[in-house]
Parts: sequence; structure tokens; C-alpha cells
Amino acid sequence: MNKTLIYFLFVTGVASAQIEKIEPPFWWEGMQQKTLQLMLYGKDLGDYEIEIPDRIPFERREVENKNYLFLKLNLAQQKAGKIKINFLQDGNLKSSFDYEIKARETRPNLESFNSSDVIYLVMPDRFANGNPSNDSHPSVTEQADRSNQDGRHGGDIQGILDHLEYLEDLGVTALWSTPLCEDNDARVSYHTYAQSDLYKIDPRFGTNQEYRNLADALHSKQMKLIMDYVTNHWGIEHWMVKDLPTSDWIHQFENYTNTNHRKEVLSDPYASEIDRKELLQGWFVPSMADLNQNNELVLNYLIQNAIWWIEFAQIDGFRVDTYPYNTPEPMVAWVKAIRAEFPNFNIVGEGWMHNSIHLSYWQENSPIAAIQGFNSKLPSVMDFTLNDALVSAFNEKNSQWDHGTTRIYKNLQNDFLYPETNQLLIFAENHDTNRINDFYPDVKTYKQLLSVIMTLRGIPQIYYGSEIGMTGKKENGDGDIRRDFPGGWKSDLQNAFVKEERTPKQNEYFEFTKKILQWRKTNQAIHVGKTLHYVPEKDVYVYFRYTQEQRVMVIVNNNPSDQILNLDRFKEGIAGKKRGYEISTANSFTFDRTIEVPASTTFIIELN
Ligand code: CA
Repeated sequence: MNKTLIYFLFVTGVASAQIEKIEPPFWWEGMQQKTLQLMLYGKDLGDYEIEIPDRIPFERREVENKNYLFLKLNLAQQKAGKIKINFLQDGNLKSSFDYEIKARETRPNLESFNSSDVIYLVMPDRFANGNPSNDSHPSVTEQADRSNQDGRHGGDIQGILDHLEYLEDLGVTALWSTPLCEDNDARVSYHTYAQSDLYKIDPRFGTNQEYRNLADALHSKQMKLIMDYVTNHWGIEHWMVKDLPTSDWIHQFENYTNTNHRKEVLSDPYASEIDRKELLQGWFVPSMADLNQNNELVLNYLIQNAIWWIEFAQIDGFRVDTYPYNTPEPMVAWVKAIRAEFPNFNIVGEGWMHNSIHLSYWQENSPIAAIQGFNSKLPSVMDFTLNDALVSAFNEKNSQWDHGTTRIYKNLQNDFLYPETNQLLIFAENHDTNRINDFYPDVKTYKQLLSVIMTLRGIPQIYYGSEIGMTGKKENGDGDIRRDFPGGWKSDLQNAFVKEERTPKQNEYFEFTKKILQWRKTNQAIHVGKTLHYVPEKDVYVYFRYTQEQRVMVIVNNNPSDQILNLDRFKEGIAGKKRGYEISTANSFTFDRTIEVPASTTFIIELN
């Protein structure tokens, strides 16, 4: 266990109160929220009287389980320093501890992630093993076994730190790592979505300080760190789940009840109560206890834990897992509390929905949700409907009325539903889907797809390894789409982090990705420009991204033949510009009456 989280205190005699955990382990002065909910854990702590000699106003709250005691401290007047908290029995002092209030670090430049970024999603266990000595750890159950595709392979925070220059060279500007807090499941713990301690980085990934170092190192390279946060559930190995403070801390049923995954019941005017209940209260899987955010103590715990990580580790954003499985109203409070402390802090919710109406429902100020009087306050959602379009579009070579690139076009036609399209996280794959290089095995299609992702509205996200052509099939199990990055382990035969060791094909993937990402970095028209698009003809989709100063024309030719386009049709988008520069081929040309685009090729043309 982490020493900083354990407080053994002995003051007088043998009957001293033993405090095993205090959460949050420390706090800060000058926060917007003036009340701190302090959770104390230790044998029969509920039996003790509490005294705070500094006369800080507080409320005491006992719960069913006497091993917990909650104190609500009013910190409105509190400066950085120590608060002494005494435990008494029959008026006699039994124990005492000092609770630390820290000074806040100034952070004027918190920008959070936005549409100027390219996010790189990494599964730390599968990326690089920077510290082989932590692959297994005595305080957690599952030991390293790299031969098991569902086992722990040893990747860690140090492994990410060791390859920041690789990411910088590629042109990535933000890193989203899947969760890193301790997950003490006996098997398949590497994905870490069944967390067992929310205040501690899993020792097989590193320490809290190493996580903070990762944020600092990223910031020094003008890159951002996005934390994967899980509000919906904790692992059944979580120490609090094993000794529940209250029976309603988690949702419990007579017999195990799974969520029905029917996320749309929340907006469905005809939904039955049992369907809503099963969605929100049913468990995601048997190893993940579903949290009851309607319990005020649980909600405060989740709010404070989220704020604690932002302030402690200086992270730049959250990706929140399984968003619509959480009870909606408490989650509004969760988002509001975080954004009250950090107004620019961006949060993207995962809602695996295949219809723009249902997806847009979850974005802040959604006009669709307003019909039902709901406002999630969630700034960003993951655009799963665009993902659906992208994974089909380039496999449909025979252009039909609504196939091929028309799928992308039609998805964007629904953008009027979203209050803020630049806040949609867009992606062709992630750690839960097929790898794009599996369903699109040729580098040509990879280039098409990447060109589209990097030029459409929204915040593009790519997935580790695809930039060197890594493949993986979901049907072969999650482990197959989460293979180890070659070169992340000392014993690997190839180090694909290094140009010289990559195959020519891997370098073709890498160099193309790098070219587009580096180009995108400074391109305002792509970051915040408006969109103008045209009905696809012969499976050629043309769109423009533009600001007052800048125009980019994108021609997606999904036709298996070369296509000659008459530019007259696009004069609204070309807006009188005479010349163009194509990014990947580095060709300059004068706009004539026509332009020829080779088969299965996307042109990204800067107009000037
Ligand atoms: Ca390791």
C-alpha cells in the first residue's frame, strides 16, 4: 500500500483509534467548493467523538458501517497548512492527525483539449515497458504474463515517458491513456476499467508522482494529458466495495442484474421504469459494481476525486467511460462541479449510440434534450455515428445512393443537431473496436481515412500502433486489438519506434501520418473553420473547411477509377482562389476548369 495513504496514529494508551485511510488524502486552499467531504476509515471510527481545536466549522455524518466516518469541513476561511483533528472517547483524547491543506499551483494556461489537437489513445499495458521491475507487484494479485493475450504485459507510465519524442515527432498533441488507477482483479486487470483504489495509480503502471511527471513532461512539449475517468462503476475488488459504507453505495439486486445497454430509454417517452432501472442500475459486467450516484456521499466522493486528480496531476481533460449508464442528474452536478473549479476543462463522454439524435442529446445545450427539459452540461461527446460511416464507406466501392462516401456526407448533414460540432471527438477506431488496418488492409485506404479524420470538424483521435499499420480483429478477443507495440519491450525483435528499424511499409504509414498531423497543427481552417460540402457524385465527396483567411478543399475519391472533376461546380467553395497546394504529394497547381484525382485517393488542397 502507498504509505502516503495510510495513517497509523497512536496517542494515548492501547485504545487509540486506528485510521487506515483518509480521502481525499489532502486538499487545497481557495477552491470554489467551500465544503470538503472527508472520509475517514478504520475500525469502529464511528464510535469516536471528533474535535477540531482550530474551530473549523464541521458536520459529522455517521453511516450504517461504523468503520466509516464522514466529516464535512467548511474550508471557506482555511489557508494552506495543517488542520488538527482529534478523536475522543468519554472526553479523553485517543488519537489525532493533521490534515494537510496545500497551496494551489498557479496554472494560467489550462487550455484543455480542443479541435486544434490530435489525440493519441494508448493502452499503457500494451505500449512500452519502461520499468520491468514493476511488471508484478506484491500489493496486487495479477502477475505479469506476456504470453497471455488477456494478461498483464508490463507496459507502464515510464514506457510512455520514454517515447514522448516519438509522439512529438508524429505530431500528436494530446495523450489519452486508458485508466491507470489500481485495478486488483485477479485476471484481465490490464484494461483497468474495474478500479480498486481511485486515489492510487496501479503500482504496475507506476506511482502517483510518475503520473504527475507524465503530465509535466507532456506540458513541456506543449502536449496535453487526458485522464480516462469511470463514474459508473468500481471493480468488485475495490476496498470500499468489499466493506460498503452504506448498503446503497452501489446498486444491489436479489440476483445479479446486468445493464440492458439500451441507452436510448433515457429519452424514450414510452420507456418503462424497469427498462430505465436496468440501464442505469444494472451492472456493466459482474466484476464491476454499479455506483449509486444518487447517494450524496457517493456523488461528492466522485466529484472530489475528479477534482483531486486535476489539481494533483495537473491533467488537461477527462474522457468519461460509459456515460449514459450513469444516473443523468447527479452527472450534471458532477460536470458542473468540475467546471466550476476549472472553467476551461474539457470532458468527453463515451456514449456508444448509432443515431445522431441520441448522440446529440448528450452534448451541453442540446436542443433535442431541451425538449425534455434536460441539459447534460457535458461539453463533448464521441461521434460514434461518424465512426459507423467511416468503417463502412471505404469498403463500398460500388457507389450507390447512400453507400460509400455518401455515408460520411449524410452523417454530417445531421450536424444541425449539435450545439458545438467542433467539440465532437472523431475517430475511426479505439480500444474497443476492430483496428482500421484490419478492415482496411491496404495503406491506400488508411491514407483516405486519416485524411478525412484530420480535416473534418471535431477533435480527431487516433489509436496507438495504427500509424505503423498495426492490425487486430475484435472477433479474436480484445487482446488482439490491443497488441504490444513492437519495440516497447527490450526483448522485442524489432523496435518500430525507430525509423531505421521499421519496415518500408511501416514507414509509409508513419511518414504519411506524420505529414498530415504536422500540417494540421497550425491549420486554423481545420481547427475552427466552417464546413461546406457537396452531394457526392460517382462516390467522390468534396468538402471545404474555411475561415476568412484560409481555405482547404478536400476531395475524397472512393471510386476505383481516376476521376476528372469539373471545378465549376465547386466555385462557391473555391471562392475565386487561383492556386492550390496538395499536402501529401506536395504538388502545386493552378486551378483550371478541371482537376484529376487518382482512384481511391484523397486530396487535401490548401487554396491560395
Ligand atoms: Ca513495467
